Amino acid sequence: MNSENNSVGGGNTPPPRGRGWGRGLCLFPGSFDPFTKGHDDIVRRALGLFDEVVIAVGYNEQKAGWMPVEERVATIRKLYADEPRIRVESYTGLTVDFAREQGITAIVRGVRSTSDFEYEMQMADVNRQLTGIETILLPASPQFASLSSSVMRELAHFHHDISEFLP
Ligand code: ADP
Repeated sequence: MNSENNSVGGGNTPPPRGRGWGRGLCLFPGSFDPFTKGHDDIVRRALGLFDEVVIAVGYNEQKAGWMPVEERVATIRKLYADEPRIRVESYTGLTVDFAREQGITAIVRGVRSTSDFEYEMQMADVNRQLTGIETILLPASPQFASLSSSVMRELAHFHHDISEFLP
């Protein structure tokens, strides 16, 4: 083995390209109820790391969302209509089951806070143990870190215009 490629954090050797992490397909799952500028930021950054991003809109058959799932999917598809490297699908059930069905081995999630982090760490660990699927956590950009779908729903419920927070 070449000792240059074997060093950790040493020298100026870039990470090997090709079958390393960060190429291929990733899944960005969420409820996206609604899809905010914070979600859009994660999608665009994931595109810099992966060849293709599949946005997976999760729904619960027992519980209606704020916005019907078909509408969420249609809105996000329209947003990325000119981006051939983004696909939008809906799914129900376990995220890792959907990821496996789609042949995807990496999940991307955004982290806004320590409470997000604790939850995401737990999910990432369970998902990896169950299926070997790895999770890449991207820190929220500071300008979007306080955006959440639940706050958007709350504002809309009280008739506030939320358009400035949506992409
Ligand atoms: P879920 O119900 O699965 O948490 P969400 O639609 O709320 O779905 O969020 C999907 C993903 O996007 C999660 O990883 C969440 O942490 C992340 N996310 C939500 N809002 C933001 C934001 N403002 N900035 C960065 N990531 C975010």
